[in-house]
Amino acid sequence: MIRTVVATIPGGYRVNGARCHQVRLRELTGQDQIFLGDVVGQLPSAQWTTEVLHRCLSGLDGAEDVNREQIRSLNVGDREALLLQLRQLSFGNRFDCVVSCPSPDCQEKLDLELRAGELLQSVAPLQMDVHEAQLNDGETTCTVRFRLVTGDDQEAVIELARRDYLAAGDVLLRRCVDRVGGSGTVVEEMPSALKEQLGERMSELDPQAEVRLKVTCSACGRVFDALFDVASYLLHELQAGMRNLLHEVHLLAYHYHWGLAEILGMSARTRHQFLRLLEAELAGASR
Ligand SMILES: [Zn+2]
Repeated sequence: MIRTVVATIPGGYRVNGARCHQVRLRELTGQDQIFLGDVVGQLPSAQWTTEVLHRCLSGLDGAEDVNREQIRSLNVGDREALLLQLRQLSFGNRFDCVVSCPSPDCQEKLDLELRAGELLQSVAPLQMDVHEAQLNDGETTCTVRFRLVTGDDQEAVIELARRDYLAAGDVLLRRCVDRVGGSGTVVEEMPSALKEQLGERMSELDPQAEVRLKVTCSACGRVFDALFDVASYLLHELQAGMRNLLHEVHLLAYHYHWGLAEILGMSARTRHQFLRLLEAELAGASR
């Protein structure tokens, strides 16, 4: 009754030295909802994402166990893509969200109805861990060898990012840049224009790491970019659904006499199927 899908991730993770681009995701159960929404719901986003994936993700072909270290080693876009697909599998294809128009005179609340397909980027599998970019700001030219930002990097700068967002960005770069060649520059001393170029190159290679939506305000016509953060979307959805979950468990336990563990072990989809049957039955009985 619990569905799974095989997801392809462009960056992948290593198993015995070989790069693995496919994982299996299983849909969320009531038990997961309580654990992720309540027990670990206060964790910073990057750590929370690791917990979600550790719970619902497994490897293929006998390599069932994917440990936290491997999940942290996934690049940010892979982690985001997996969260999106997990949400789609567990609660459906449609994502409803609200954004505010950034114009100070407008601030209109806009309802957006998004589909998973609009949020998931199609990215070809990356075959290399290390990439190279030629950067040039008109004065300095250099060749930089770098890797993409991973969950591990994000977790490492959580504390610093709370105090100093820019410094955290520098630490991320230092962790990801292997070598700055050509100019004798070290990464800390790279001109900000070059750091920006490097950031752009990283985004091109890992476009799913940051999902930007183009939104047009229906009230004032302004066109603006809005970031879609799948981890906060999913966490909010799990927490907001907690009250309903209790009510649903109560109804199923009361009428079917099933145990708590049994009901919480079901997916939301299965719970809702039984609730619809129950509703029809009760409606029939009261006629
Ligand atoms: Zn507006």
